[in-house]
Amino acid sequence: MSVGKIIVILGAPGSGKGTQAKRLQEKFSVPQISTGDILRAIAKEGFSLLAEQIRETQAAGKLVSDEILIQVVSERTQKEDCKKGFILDGYPRTLGQAQQLEGLALSQEREIKVVNVDILDSLLLKRLTGRRSCPSCGEIYNIYFKPPKSNNICDHCSEFLIHRSDDNLESINKRLQEYRKNTEPLIDYYKKHQCLSSIDGTQSPDEVFELLCQIFQ
Ligand SMILES: [Zn+2]
Repeated sequence: MSVGKIIVILGAPGSGKGTQAKRLQEKFSVPQISTGDILRAIAKEGFSLLAEQIRETQAAGKLVSDEILIQVVSERTQKEDCKKGFILDGYPRTLGQAQQLEGLALSQEREIKVVNVDILDSLLLKRLTGRRSCPSCGEIYNIYFKPPKSNNICDHCSEFLIHRSDDNLESINKRLQEYRKNTEPLIDYYKKHQCLSSIDGTQSPDEVFELLCQIFQ
């Protein structure tokens, strides 16, 4: 991977981009930076003004402001482990955030590289609504793509499988709509800036990972 790149992976919920980001982190030895994780950590441990602001915002059920997000990303990415580059997870989510990230890249003298993992909504819906997990061993199944041998029972420990409450059709549709509304304009934005590649996300996770490695090497 060339030095100092900022890697952004775009993809709808269910596109598997989180898992792919983790695999890329191992392959290229650059950190995967999740704004959600950082905010949770600051809110939990910190006594700073920032920690207070984040706790108040989250308690009110609101989204943390773009100003706080870019501040958090900026601070985190100045650490030693980001020298070789880093992978952003869950950021940027909006056009405004993408513009702020552009400013950060300029000041850190880094290049932004973006990949969009593209999947049809119909497939995303099956991936998300079909998901079942075992409460005992944690094995993940999908009733469409990776069903257990006997209906709704874990192959390993014979426990009944669980269906997460936010994996229902209504909440998934809401998440997809939010994604389309806020994040899809980013695809056009990065196309114009000529730093976007697209990958067909209907392929297997291993095939998608192979393509990502080719793009980022
Ligand atoms: Zn199990």
